[in-house]
Amino acid sequence: MTQAALPTYADVEAAAARLAGVAHRTPVLTSRTINEQLGAEVFFKFESLQRMGAFKFRGAYNALAQFNAEQRRAGVVAFSSGNHAQGVALAARILGIPATIIMPDDAPAMKVAATRGYGARVVTYDRYKEDREAIGRKLAEEGGLTLIPPYDHADVIAGQGTSAKELFEEVGALDALFMPLGGGGLLSGSLLSAKALAPACQVYGVEPEAGNDGQQSLRQGSIVRIDTPVTLADGAQTQYLGKITFAIIQRDVTDILTGTDAQLVEAMRFFGSRMKQVVEPTGALGLAGLQNVADQWRGKRVGVIVSGGNVDLARYAELVGAAA
Ligand SMILES: *Cc1c(COP(=O)(O)O)cnc(C)c1O
Repeated sequence: MTQAALPTYADVEAAAARLAGVAHRTPVLTSRTINEQLGAEVFFKFESLQRMGAFKFRGAYNALAQFNAEQRRAGVVAFSSGNHAQGVALAARILGIPATIIMPDDAPAMKVAATRGYGARVVTYDRYKEDREAIGRKLAEEGGLTLIPPYDHADVIAGQGTSAKELFEEVGALDALFMPLGGGGLLSGSLLSAKALAPACQVYGVEPEAGNDGQQSLRQGSIVRIDTPVTLADGAQTQYLGKITFAIIQRDVTDILTGTDAQLVEAMRFFGSRMKQVVEPTGALGLAGLQNVADQWRGKRVGVIVSGGNVDLARYAELVGAAA
């Protein structure tokens, strides 16, 4: 992929115009407790309060809104461990486009139910044995459906970048910004916004420790593929970064950090007890990553994108209720 083909901040601006009045401008909240703990001024952008409960609606809607008449008639197909599925399903319903979603058979029940609830047809597969991309391509070829991948797509990336754009517009330049990293749609889109709106801001992606393919890729200088990692962070169980997302990440990112499952649970407890926010394990990665390098950011202004809040309530209670 040549640099010229990569999405730019102008694409993020165009996405923001499409999303105006459709997506929520999610709230930015602060906590004196965490500021005192870390000695920094921390701004949390709660994408858990976005429509369908995660930032994924942004990219999905931005992609589907650009379909031509033929694509709208034939419909969209997407593969996803959950939130991209819901994002595509909701965007498709709003735009009147039929949606088929390919989901792993062990996806959280709440995410499957929500996707069906938005009117999408759900097809399941075994995530440890089958190749979801091949299944998606087959459906796309047979039915003329347009495949919208969860992260490696310019329109998806541009849409995801609108969250960081809103954050910088609301709180001004930041010294650092932390967010979860799966396939890199959120991180690469955010990098486009950061380079345009706060060029000095140091931007970090945070992966589950068990699935640090992005960190390995950055160190090695090429995309590293790993087995599906076993982690609570089901939204970041991706095995490899995308070609487009990696090109932007490699060019612009400060570093890629990791967080352990235990840290995610601790961060979820903090969000629940102190900030009264239900956050899914993946959504807590940004805070976990910040906490691991907090010494570097004392006295600084730091942003954290809390990417989603979709977690079965029984599962949530089990996780945050267990003895610390
Ligand atoms: C998809 C997702 C991520 C990872 O986003 P990528 O664009 O794949 O890097 C992080 N958090 C949540 C809640 C998600 O749904």
